[in-house]
Amino acid sequence: MNELLSLSISEIVRGLRQRRFSATEIASAYLEQCEKLKHLNAYIKVCSDAILKEAENMDKLTPGSGDLIGVPLAIKDILVTRGIATTCGSKMLENFIPPYDATVWKRLKDAGALLLGKTNMDEFAMGSSNENSFFGPVLNPWDNNCVSGGSSGGSACAVAARMAPAALGSDTGGSVRQPASFCGIVGFKPTYGRISRYGLIAFASSLDQVGIFTRNIDDCICLYKLIAGYDPYDSTSVDKPVGSVNIIPDARLDGLRIGIPAEYFTPALNNEIKEVVNQALEALSAQGAELVEISLPHTEYAVATYYIISPAEASSNLSRYDGVRYGHRAGSIKSLEELYKKSRSEGFGPEVKRRILIGNYVLSAGYYDAYYRKAQKVRRLIAEDFANAFENKCDIIATPTTPSVAFKIGEKTSDPLQMYLNDIFTVPASLAGLPAISIPCGFSGDNMPVGLQLIANAWDEERLLQTAAVYQRVTEWHRRVPNGL
Ligand code: GLN
Repeated sequence: MNELLSLSISEIVRGLRQRRFSATEIASAYLEQCEKLKHLNAYIKVCSDAILKEAENMDKLTPGSGDLIGVPLAIKDILVTRGIATTCGSKMLENFIPPYDATVWKRLKDAGALLLGKTNMDEFAMGSSNENSFFGPVLNPWDNNCVSGGSSGGSACAVAARMAPAALGSDTGGSVRQPASFCGIVGFKPTYGRISRYGLIAFASSLDQVGIFTRNIDDCICLYKLIAGYDPYDSTSVDKPVGSVNIIPDARLDGLRIGIPAEYFTPALNNEIKEVVNQALEALSAQGAELVEISLPHTEYAVATYYIISPAEASSNLSRYDGVRYGHRAGSIKSLEELYKKSRSEGFGPEVKRRILIGNYVLSAGYYDAYYRKAQKVRRLIAEDFANAFENKCDIIATPTTPSVAFKIGEKTSDPLQMYLNDIFTVPASLAGLPAISIPCGFSGDNMPVGLQLIANAWDEERLLQTAAVYQRVTEWHRRVPNGL
């Protein structure tokens, strides 16, 4: 593997400033890796010509002051990029060329980042395995027979397989943390409202958040600081200072109370994962953290709640794809109704149709109270569980990110319920709007990565990232690279 591919973001920036290598060399190294590992299907589009041109232009100038000057980045194809096709993993948007940039991408671009490409994803971010993409599944770089996770599977795979130094994704119920865990990298989602969603194609608006994939915490913090913070273009963006989020080199965790929720360590949890996560907890305790048992009693209702609320919102959000304004438009139609029906039938894949049906069902007269309204009430109870824990017992919560390691391609496609249950540990923090991160914490006997999830109270990203940084400093898991790259 080309050694440029193992550099962190700050090493790339430093090397470019000192002219040890050029932006063109960095971009070319990544493009070669993308070509070599094309079969993993991580990208829907690689912007080869454009990035080389931009890199060449950059090399002609004295390096500017931007924090990401010359750093190539991958962006999930759910974030709009001006003039560059943005498909959302769907036939519906196969030919959609957005007229503007998502705020997060604009901020990275303004800091000097170059667009490597748009990554593969489950259609409209609905899925946990990337098998719902119109563009085909993404293979896991640790074992090509396994899924990369979803819905941001392409971003996770690209970063793990050194096809990008870092990537953006979106997390509605776990779509950044779960694929990060399956691919052995860092995946972070912020507090609801912390990072702008302007230009993030909507799935479930009360849950959707932009998230970050990196190979280490330092890179994650670097991107977080650049994209977090108020955006007047997003009405759910909150105007709060982001804080400094500095990594203190020798920091310990003395005085930090880490809550371990009993409900996440049930017999349903795979034994290997339990063992690996327990070792991670010991490592945190060895750094001075106090481990306290806590209870989040409504955890068992989280999956059911999520799979009522998110389809309800999706059914409303996706009504805009009517074949008239944008997106796929069916041919040879005789009436307006036929245009809607045919365009939507042809444009959406089976999982998206299933969610629209569920959403309309739970919102319909006669079922609204029994399903949607009740789910909203349970969501409040789930959020209160977390609020109680943070008020009375702990500062951070630690759990496994997923109940199992990456499963085989095709293993769960015939059983949507099994697929949905895979989200059991990630959806509660989403429903509560809390910041959470998955960090590499070990491997299964089959050499598949395991993720440790840390969850913090709302707006406490600083403590979350600093805790993760201490764990990273005393462990080596994040340094492992999939075989054969
Ligand atoms: N797997 C979950 C779903 O299918 C979460 C997806 C996401 O976070 N975008 O809805």
